[in-house]
Amino acid sequence: MTEALFREDATLASCDAQVVALDALGLQLDRTVFYPQGGGQAGDRGRLVLADGSVLEIADTRKGETPGAILHVPAPGQEALLARVAPGQRVQATIDMQRRQRHMRFHTATHLLCALVPHPVDGCSITADYARLDFHMNEPLDKLVLGEGLARLVAEAHPVRHRWISEAELDANPQLVRSMSVQPPRGQGRVRVLEIDGVDLQPCGGTHVANTAEIGAVVVTKIEKKSAMTRRVVLGFAPAG
Ligand SMILES: [Zn+2]
Repeated sequence: MTEALFREDATLASCDAQVVALDALGLQLDRTVFYPQGGGQAGDRGRLVLADGSVLEIADTRKGETPGAILHVPAPGQEALLARVAPGQRVQATIDMQRRQRHMRFHTATHLLCALVPHPVDGCSITADYARLDFHMNEPLDKLVLGEGLARLVAEAHPVRHRWISEAELDANPQLVRSMSVQPPRGQGRVRVLEIDGVDLQPCGGTHVANTAEIGAVVVTKIEKKSAMTRRVVLGFAPAG
């Protein structure tokens, strides 16, 4: 089990931690700011600074096999350095915050899209360069209308916050679950929900900005008909200037 600091504060770029385990798949810490790939959102990259000052580059973050375990996946070619890492050692873990910021902005934008398109979601991918959301629907979508809707919700500067609800509360409100492809994690008694004031409320474990204004200028780059019952919406950041 790794304490997931990003679940309470997505703005944390760095933390001190202790190495818990190390194997061919990656390095596990007792606590981390690194978000593991999941819920459609890409895993974080960054670096671990060891006690002697040497720097281990982390290329990706994944969920481990045991529940709650988070694996920091080293970039290739660091075998000599990895051989010196052992459980119990202290490290400083720091993510590539510029890249994560893009994930947070896109991720929050996909929640806005959910509010604009009232259909179930059956696929989602959030990267630093684009976000795409697949809606289970057969009606056509209008690129211009969606773009204007997103711009309006960004400009309205809605606060974004997470809170925890009980599994019983979620069971009593099944309409909260918008995604057909990602089910909220069960078995811990509580479920994290993401609320954008007056706009969207749904279970989500990802990282988000604190206000829709922080999303900035996003554009709908593409709308595709992926199948008879799937419409894909792709978002990008508007070119600067
Ligand atoms: Zn989310």
